[in-house]
Amino acid sequence: MTGITAFVEGWDFVQTLGEGAYGEVKLAVNTDTQEAVAVKIINLEKTASAAENVRKEVCVHNMLNHERVIKYYGSRKDKKIQYLFLEYASGGELFDRIEPDAGMPQIEANKFFKQLLAGVEYLHTKGVTHRDLKPENLLLDDFDNLKISDFGLATVFRYQGRERMLEKCCGTVPYVAPEVLSRQPYHAEPADIWSCAIILVAMLAGELPWDEPNYGCQEYCNWKDCKITLSPWNKVDNLALSLLRKLLVENPKKRYTIQQVKSHQWFNKNFNKQAKSPFSRMPSSSPSGSPCGTGPFKKVCSKNELSPKSTDSDLSRISCSQPEYNQHGYHGETTPTNTDDTNHIFSFSQPVHPDHMLLSSQFQGTPGSSQTPMQKLVRRMTRFFVKTDREETYEELDKVLQQLGYNWKKNSPGMVTVSTMDKRNVSLVFKACLMEMGENLLLDFRLSKGDGLEFKRHFIKIKNQMKQIVSKIPPAWPLVPSQIG
Ligand code: ATP
Repeated sequence: MTGITAFVEGWDFVQTLGEGAYGEVKLAVNTDTQEAVAVKIINLEKTASAAENVRKEVCVHNMLNHERVIKYYGSRKDKKIQYLFLEYASGGELFDRIEPDAGMPQIEANKFFKQLLAGVEYLHTKGVTHRDLKPENLLLDDFDNLKISDFGLATVFRYQGRERMLEKCCGTVPYVAPEVLSRQPYHAEPADIWSCAIILVAMLAGELPWDEPNYGCQEYCNWKDCKITLSPWNKVDNLALSLLRKLLVENPKKRYTIQQVKSHQWFNKNFNKQAKSPFSRMPSSSPSGSPCGTGPFKKVCSKNELSPKSTDSDLSRISCSQPEYNQHGYHGETTPTNTDDTNHIFSFSQPVHPDHMLLSSQFQGTPGSSQTPMQKLVRRMTRFFVKTDREETYEELDKVLQQLGYNWKKNSPGMVTVSTMDKRNVSLVFKACLMEMGENLLLDFRLSKGDGLEFKRHFIKIKNQMKQIVSKIPPAWPLVPSQIG
């Protein structure tokens, strides 16, 4: 991916935002206007299906225009590489807001779930199914509004009013509906709705309920048997659980539709009445007894009563890698959104004339041109400032990765790639990258491959082990982040 620093005249590639199966996504910023776009760079020869998938992705994107869907500005092809120009989501991925094993406050989960359903409803009205809904494919904008992204597996299931059944078994296994795995034709809409429900579990409990929704999986059997005193269900309040009971229904015909979800009490509950604090996660009283219909929950608490489990350690667990706020915005984070003096630096606009970037085929190859004062890192929780200098930080990182038994290698300058297996025995690859923020150093971790929640668990383990060098006080860094060697 080198040599594309200034792929289009006037646009600089300033940062890698993420990686996917077919290539990278980079942030490109217009040097004059500071407009920002995300550029998905796809190597068409990486796999046999890459070209076909990207063709479909472009075709689907062309059909869509909605505030809950990442906007598509256009594409261009240069030999084996295809570039897709997309609306830049500076808030990062939804999974990054999910605290492993704790989730997020209900008020936030409710907001994101509503936005997710609005986006999915729109897709379905357009006859499009996403087929890979998961927190990693849900991005957030400047204002923490959710945008559905990555239409690489999306397809049209309804055309001119006629629905076709789908047969392809695709998606990410813990998020897919049972009928998708059954190898029988299935309806598109209920399958997407199932994935939304799994995302809701992840947001409310910080874990996925099962590896696969089949009878070979004990956790799935437990759910079918209504064993809701087990994790993750015992972390979810009754009202939310009653919704999940209607969503995670094996028979797609009996599963709630989006319309039904929209009239459910949890969906419509006004969480603003509760303080926005970790306490809002605590169980509220059930409206109508057990959602299972098998008697009251053991853990039901009366209104405003804290769960017996709500100890200080719970609270610290909930907040341990969430951003801390002060009047300057996020501590140790790269999104000082509230201060006047930083807004001019960090506010990007989306392109008014996206065509501009598609006109020129000039390569300028000026690596230094990425050093513009309006650079902005995508907002991410999986990073921290360090007190140490570059060498000491690398030494400490090496030491900690070794202590924790990781396989890792230094590849490109300033970048360490860590490869491991997650608890499901699925490959997990992430990168640690040292970035200069004025006089301070930021150690940024980014997922390359694997499950987002598992990545976050590993990040927290590494961060805890490195706590000696983690800088607690947000340094008064000025502006220019740059990846260093
Ligand atoms: P996958 O292997 O999941 O199919 P992919 O090759 O299709 O991945 P995406 O999922 O589209 O690639 O993007 C990979 C990552 O890049 C995302 O998870 C996200 O972190 C980042 N990213 C993608 N699009 C944007 C965007 N519009 N704005 C900001 N970041 C983005």
